[in-house]
Amino acid sequence: MRIAFLGLGIMGRPMAANLAKAGHEVIVWNRTAGKTVEGAQTATTPAEAARGAEVVWICVSDTKAVESILFGPDGVEQSLIDGMIIADSSTISPASTLKFAERVKTRGVQYVDCPVTGSKIGAEAGSLIFIVGGEESAIEKLKPLYEAMGKLFVRVGGTGKGQSAKLAMNLQIALIFEGFAEGLTLAAKLGDSAETLLPLMQASMIRSGVVVYKAPFVLKRDFTPNFPMKLMHKDIRLMLEAAKEARVKLPALEIVEEIDDVAIEDGDGDLDYVAIIALLEKWAGVEVKAA
Ligand code: NAP
Repeated sequence: MRIAFLGLGIMGRPMAANLAKAGHEVIVWNRTAGKTVEGAQTATTPAEAARGAEVVWICVSDTKAVESILFGPDGVEQSLIDGMIIADSSTISPASTLKFAERVKTRGVQYVDCPVTGSKIGAEAGSLIFIVGGEESAIEKLKPLYEAMGKLFVRVGGTGKGQSAKLAMNLQIALIFEGFAEGLTLAAKLGDSAETLLPLMQASMIRSGVVVYKAPFVLKRDFTPNFPMKLMHKDIRLMLEAAKEARVKLPALEIVEEIDDVAIEDGDGDLDYVAIIALLEKWAGVEVKAA
């Protein structure tokens, strides 16, 4: 298939590379020039990348970025053609997703929201999980592309439902990690070693994918971004906005949002979100480390 891939960040670049490796004709674009993908051509604007594409795949930071790529100057809108499919793997606002989908529908274009889970390791390994919202006919056509980039794709409902399900899932990642980080901080202060505790935790009902993925990074003090804190913070704000609209109270998440605010003010926004533990440690006057 001919695919325009827009956004070559931590997630987008390996996703585009996996599409090219699977034999698709890929043309990539990134806001900051200089990023390329082996086996893919490079365009200088979103409109140029999308010209003649059957599928336009987007993976960028936030709602504003998706909006400007689609409808801004030199945006995809200039190159829309009847029968094209837009697939958005960014995590953005479900309400804005519906508006974007309505706007391109008037040009005969189907819009599928398909945010992902699996982080950097999953994107590189082609083992992402796609949480998909949209019309079944479009999703069926995208099947070979999901298979090139992921291990599972699940249609959770119509347009926008992928984004809302993704928010509900990331909410749990944020809170599970917060619990893990607070638990380890208390343990360190009380004199328990994280290395002794971890196998115990994994053997107990605390065991979770979040802990399995993130514990080694915490123990190595490796805060290089797999999922940058500023993006987790963006997601938490989307969750709280959606909750406000739906009149749902999320008290624990509100606190984590405030903790992230402080960590970002301290200059940690570009680090992985696991760096939040450094703030808890600072408040406790202790450091969680391997023996
Ligand atoms: P990232 O490494 O920070 O990359 C962000 C990408 O968005 C870059 O290509 C950046 O371009 C582009 N961008 C930002 N603002 C833009 C704008 N106004 N116009 C055009 N392009 C813009 O982020 P990522 O980790 O790849 O995440 C991408 C999306 O996937 C986010 O929505 C994130 O929440 C979601 N996600 C991430 C993970 C993860 O573990 N990393 C997991 C699941 C979902 P420049 O290079 O020019 O800055």
